[in-house]
Amino acid sequence: MNSGVGSLFVVSPHLDDAVFGCATLLASPPGATVCTVFAGTPRAPQIQPWDAAAGFSDSSAAMRARTREDARALARLGARAIRLPFLDGQYGELPSVRTVARALLACFEPLDRSSLVVPLGLRHPDHLRVADAWLALLRTRAVQSCIVYEDAIHRTVPGITAARLDQLSAAGLRVTAFDASWTPQRESTRALRLKQLAVRDYGSQLQAFGEDIPADLSEPEHFWRVEWPRYQGASFSPRERDISDALSATLS
Ligand SMILES: [Zn+2]
Repeated sequence: MNSGVGSLFVVSPHLDDAVFGCATLLASPPGATVCTVFAGTPRAPQIQPWDAAAGFSDSSAAMRARTREDARALARLGARAIRLPFLDGQYGELPSVRTVARALLACFEPLDRSSLVVPLGLRHPDHLRVADAWLALLRTRAVQSCIVYEDAIHRTVPGITAARLDQLSAAGLRVTAFDASWTPQRESTRALRLKQLAVRDYGSQLQAFGEDIPADLSEPEHFWRVEWPRYQGASFSPRERDISDALSATLS
């Protein structure tokens, strides 16, 4: 390992987000674990607009094909897959923050000395649920810090990334941007080419986004380190305190 971050445990809300948001990081060097949160298949097949736009007859066909796409992309990048059985928002009610946080911790904790890499949490409710889960893990000191990647495609809403970073800072988190000197191998021809190929593996999702390949997927990836420097005595909002207290009770 020469990335300076050790092995990576990368959390992906859906079957594509980790590759769309940080494939060059996954590629340099290979050996990461990608844990997809909303990889479950509804027991009774459903017909939803997103799946129809992606070319599928129902949710069973969609999740089968999307899992295959994901397996191909991650194999290309030399990453190992963990797929959690939670249903994404189009299929029903999201799991609670606590449930997601506990599931992530159960997968991450045995991987001694790995870096936890998570999505910033932009726009999509499923992404926000995952972000609430890693925030809860930080808040309870279940993890000390996260590397945060920008949610590709969702980040194209003007000002959304800056607003989210401001929100994290305002909540008392220490947010530090990584500059170009961090993992410079991400800029290698090899890493950029592997990302291009891996993105194309998600053909059904690219179809649903309505363009051959959304232009944003060729734009640079952005990363930050996020830490919670003042857990003891910090002033939380009532909602943050609920999450924190509930997690403290169940994680201890
Ligand atoms: Zn997503």
